[in-house]
Amino acid sequence: MYDQQNIARCYMEQNMIFGSTGSMAHACRGPIGLWSAAGSAVSAILTGLIYLFVCVKAWAGAFGIGSITQYVGALTALTKNISTLVHAVGILRANTLYLKIAYQFLDIPNRMYQGSLTTEKRSDRQYKVEFRDVSFRYPGSSTWALRHVNVKFRVGRRLAVVGENGSGKTTFIKLLCRLYDPQEGSILLNGIDIRKYNYRDYMGLFAVVFQDFQLLAQPLGANVAGAQDYDRARAEKALTDAGFGERLAAMPAGLDTMLYKEFAGDGVDVSGGEAQKIAIARALYKDAPFIILDEPTAALDPIAEAEIYAKFNDIAGDKTAVYISHRLSSCKFCDEIAVFDHGQVVQRGAHEQLLADEAGKYAQLWHAQAQYYTAPAEK
Ligand code: ADP
Repeated sequence: MYDQQNIARCYMEQNMIFGSTGSMAHACRGPIGLWSAAGSAVSAILTGLIYLFVCVKAWAGAFGIGSITQYVGALTALTKNISTLVHAVGILRANTLYLKIAYQFLDIPNRMYQGSLTTEKRSDRQYKVEFRDVSFRYPGSSTWALRHVNVKFRVGRRLAVVGENGSGKTTFIKLLCRLYDPQEGSILLNGIDIRKYNYRDYMGLFAVVFQDFQLLAQPLGANVAGAQDYDRARAEKALTDAGFGERLAAMPAGLDTMLYKEFAGDGVDVSGGEAQKIAIARALYKDAPFIILDEPTAALDPIAEAEIYAKFNDIAGDKTAVYISHRLSSCKFCDEIAVFDHGQVVQRGAHEQLLADEAGKYAQLWHAQAQYYTAPAEK
C-alpha cells in the first residue's frame, strides 16, 4: 500500500538480528565467531587426544571395559564444558564493548565540592533553609536564571513558589536540592552552607516530585520504594495516602504487578493521573523532612490540580512542603507564597495579603488567570 515495500524491507532487514544479513551474523564473523570457532577447535583437539590416550591405555591392558565407559563419559562432559567456557569468554569480550559505554558514564566523577558534615536526623524536623543573595545561570548560558534571590523557609510550613513559566521556579528547587551550585551567594541549612554537608546525606532530606518524573517498567512496589527490597506495608500506605488505594486493590498482583509491558506481557499500563499518584507515593515513601511538588500535575486542569495540592497538604503532616505552580489557585492555601518573576522573588506573603497589592505581580497574574478558577458550581 502506498508503495511502502521498500521502507518495510529496509525495516525488516535491520530488525532480523538472527537472519543471514542480520547483526548477529555480522557479529559472528567478528569476535564472537572467532571465539566460538576457537572453543570448538580446542574441544575437538582435546577430545581427540584424550580418546587416543584412553584407547592406548586400554589396549595395553591398563583398565577394563567398564572403566573405559566411565572415563569417556567424564571426558565428554569435561570437553563440553571447556568449549562452553571458551565460547562464553568470546561473548563476554564482545559485550564488554557495549558495557564500556555504560561504565564510562557511571565513572564520570562528581566534580561538585562536598563536605563531610552530616545532616542530623532531627526528630523535631527543625530545619531552617535560607537562600542568601543567590544568583545562578545554567552552564553555557549567558542569561541569569535566578538573580539575587533571598528566601527563608520556616520549617513545618507550606511554602508556595509561583510565577509564570520560565520565571525560575524549577531552577530554585534544583539549587535547593543541590543538583547545581549557585555561582553567587549561598544556600544555608541551619545556618551552614549546604556545600559543607555530605552530598548523599543532604539529598536524603528532600523528596521531590519533578514535572518530568519517570516510572520504570518494574513492579509497582519497587517503583514506589525505588528498591527491590522494601517495606510492603509502608509502600501500601504511601499509595493509599496518594489516592491510589482503590486502583491498588484492583491490581492483579498488588504491589508485585509489573508496570508497562516492556518486560512483562501482563504488565499494567497506568494513566497519566495514576502515574502522578504513584510518583507522589514515591515521595511519601521516602519520608523525608522536605517534600516538594514541582508541578507534577501540569497535565491536569487547574481545578484538579488544586484538589491534589490541597489533599497533599493534609498528607504532608509536619513536613515542610514546597509547592510549585504557575497556577496561583493551586497554592492559595499555603502559609507563605513567593512570587517569581524573571528569576527574582518579587513578592512574598500570604494569599490575601498579596492580592491586596493591586499593582503587584501576584494580583496581575491572579486576575489574568481568574477565569480558570471558578469551580463548575459557581459558573
Ligand atoms: P519555571 O520552572 O519557572 O518554568 P525554570 O526554572 O525551568 O522556570 O527556567 C528558568 C530559566 O532558565 C528559563 O529562562 C529557562 O529557559 C532557563 N533554563 C531552564 N533550564 C535550563 C537548562 N537546562 N539550560 C539552560 N537554561 C535553562
